[in-house]
Amino acid sequence: MARARSAATDTDGLDWSHAPVRDPQPCVLCGRPALLRHPKTLRPCHKTCSDAKAAADLDRAAAAYNGAAS
Ligand SMILES: [Zn+2]
Repeated sequence: MARARSAATDTDGLDWSHAPVRDPQPCVLCGRPALLRHPKTLRPCHKTCSDAKAAADLDRAAAAYNGAAS
């Protein structure tokens, strides 16, 4: 967790600085209008939602790993 992260790069290492901006469409994660398109999937998505999902996925993976190890 000590790795520095730029504001334009989320926890998946995606570069949101070049994410397309289009008319508002419902975010795939929260359903609220989003101007940004996900850099990889190009589906409507907030960067903050993507960050939260990536962090949750990491937590789940860590919990599964720790659960399997004990
Ligand atoms: Zn969202």
